Amino acid sequence: MKRFSKRISILALTASVLALSACAPAVEKEAVSEATVEVAVAVTPEAVHQAVITLDTHVDIPLTYMTDAMDPGTDTDAQVDLAKMEVGGLDAAFFIVYTPQTNILDADIKYAEAREIAETRFAAIDKLTKTYPERIELAKTADDVRRIHKSGKRAALIGMENAFPLGASVDDVPLWAERGVRYMGITHMGHNQFGDSSNPKTAWGETDSMYGGLSPLGKDLVAALNKAGIMVDVSHAGRETMMQATALSSVPVIASHSGVMGVADSLRNLDDAQLRALAENGGVAQMVALGSYVKALSPAQEKFKADVRTEMGFETDTQIFKSGPEKIGKYFKALEGMYDIDAKANVADFADHIDHAVKIAGIDHVGIASDFDGGGGITGWSDASETLNITKELVKRGYSQTDIEKIWGGNLLRVLQAVQDGADK
Ligand SMILES: [Zn+2]
Repeated sequence: MKRFSKRISILALTASVLALSACAPAVEKEAVSEATVEVAVAVTPEAVHQAVITLDTHVDIPLTYMTDAMDPGTDTDAQVDLAKMEVGGLDAAFFIVYTPQTNILDADIKYAEAREIAETRFAAIDKLTKTYPERIELAKTADDVRRIHKSGKRAALIGMENAFPLGASVDDVPLWAERGVRYMGITHMGHNQFGDSSNPKTAWGETDSMYGGLSPLGKDLVAALNKAGIMVDVSHAGRETMMQATALSSVPVIASHSGVMGVADSLRNLDDAQLRALAENGGVAQMVALGSYVKALSPAQEKFKADVRTEMGFETDTQIFKSGPEKIGKYFKALEGMYDIDAKANVADFADHIDHAVKIAGIDHVGIASDFDGGGGITGWSDASETLNITKELVKRGYSQTDIEKIWGGNLLRVLQAVQDGADK
């Protein structure tokens, strides 16, 4: 009964809109059948957004997360907090245990320091779900995500960006699996003990390739992740590292937050052969909404960025991320000046990456990641509260609800399931 009256009111609204339109011939008014209206209701972006599980595979957190300095249960300046997720209809997110890479060529590799950072971030995510159990719950399986979504709560998953804190062995992979880590990135910026990065640290004396892809320990890592039911994440990995890991993995792999070279030339983006390899492997490429990967920076913008870093005394990414939330915030704010030079990437630019990835890899192998609070954010999707805008753009481009369900999380959950099934074997 309730549904019927909703249909009638929309029918009336549509008819009156048509009647108001000067160009609409009178006959069109008659042609509005209830069937037409039902189709119109089904493709409303709001309805689609409501119906599907929206899963963002990359949300960073500061080192002060879940302290008085940054409590996501309150109003915050962060791009993602619980209220912004609720308002934006963002149902699930991978929160990230990120560790910046330090120089692997140093005689004294700082594994212990890296481990401490990873422990701090894991403890904060754990505290988040324990502090706000009525609003968010830790998901360890695809079924968990669906169950939690049904209950009306947000689902928190854990991803580890950079396997560096594992140290000189892969012995602790099962421990991280037990704690709930469901993907692990092989490398970050700069090579590590597991393989070549997409972005070598030339300032540290690194050449393009240290191993020609995965190191011997990196091959052990892929096997250990497969065994533990943790998804292998090839974002930030060098091209050869990525191709080798994809070929070696006995189960599908993911690129948790990457764009495509076909739209924007960036070392962090995937080329068409990589997209095809991911599709063949059954994996998924999660398109990242980080401005300079969505739309490559112009030389003038690159110079602006370098100047900001010099001015703030940052020589490395590590220095930035260790400088504390206030300075990090100041840094990202200062970077916004780049977009006075050339416009920032917007939702349409971002959807171009999705279109291209779908064209090359297929609708079953594409997903979405914001990289919020880690440099991500574009005009129109600048924080989690604006998540509906992505669905709006996808509907506008003709993606069906089934397509959007896959892109917004269905594909990722399929891979998670396959990886966990593979581990059980
Ligand atoms: Zn990243």
